[in-house]
Amino acid sequence: VERSDSGGCEEESFEFLIVSSTGQTWHFEAGSFEERDAWVQAIESQILASLQCCESSKNKARMDSQSEAVAIQAIRNASGNSLCVDCGAPNPTWASLNLGALICIECSGIHRNLGTHLSRVRSLDLDDWPRELTLVLTSIGNTTANSIWEKSPQGRKPTPDSSREEREAWIRAKYEQKLFLAPLPEAEGPLAEQLLRAVRDKDLELVLLLLAHSKKEQLNVSTGDGDGRPALHVACDMGLVVITQLLLWVRGDTGVARVGRRYGGCGVAMGGGGGCGVVMGWP
Ligand SMILES: [Zn+2]
Repeated sequence: VERSDSGGCEEESFEFLIVSSTGQTWHFEAGSFEERDAWVQAIESQILASLQCCESSKNKARMDSQSEAVAIQAIRNASGNSLCVDCGAPNPTWASLNLGALICIECSGIHRNLGTHLSRVRSLDLDDWPRELTLVLTSIGNTTANSIWEKSPQGRKPTPDSSREEREAWIRAKYEQKLFLAPLPEAEGPLAEQLLRAVRDKDLELVLLLLAHSKKEQLNVSTGDGDGRPALHVACDMGLVVITQLLLWVRGDTGVARVGRRYGGCGVAMGGGGGCGVVMGWP
């Protein structure tokens, strides 16, 4: 913004110009020196404010992409994650969220066909990785996933060169028919009760194993063990982000869990589309 100097002219002038970064100019005239200076000051402070706002949103975007890169690297570093969990192809770029495993692009197509009740596919490169999902993937990883789903493999495991038919037969046998699944530990009581104990013990691997063996209906029951609250409420109350997220997926909830203890109680709020408002809350 420039104040125009009338250069000793007799006639008083209260003009000012706005010059854009592209050289465009706008010419204004105020009623007095005071008015002109007030306008110039107001416009300059607006320009400064919008520059600062621009800069801070740029910084935020940069920070977000940096922390996202760190998150994805942490996922890649989890044990076994350098190879596809199903065919062993190097540097897999897709993930199965609920299995907590990385898969190659070929196997990801077959996983998608299994349905989200068995495998929720997400791209490492193309999708967002909020903290909760990153935690699920870094806490599980391919080694743990296969210690459960591929404990006793039968037949020949696919290789990166296997045909689609060979891969599909293996993947369906593994996750749909559960032919290679690790056996349940010998334990007393129904699955829902065992699950509740595993949650209380914060035993993620046992939770994964129990979930792999159970059907949705078996888990949505309140148990006689403890205060009657289901495992999901207990996991949430204990602030167990990964287990809470896994249990929400078993229920068929699609969003990302925000686990928190607020207002003296616990609640899980769902973010990320799907229109799930707050799904739980209790005093
Ligand atoms: Zn693969």
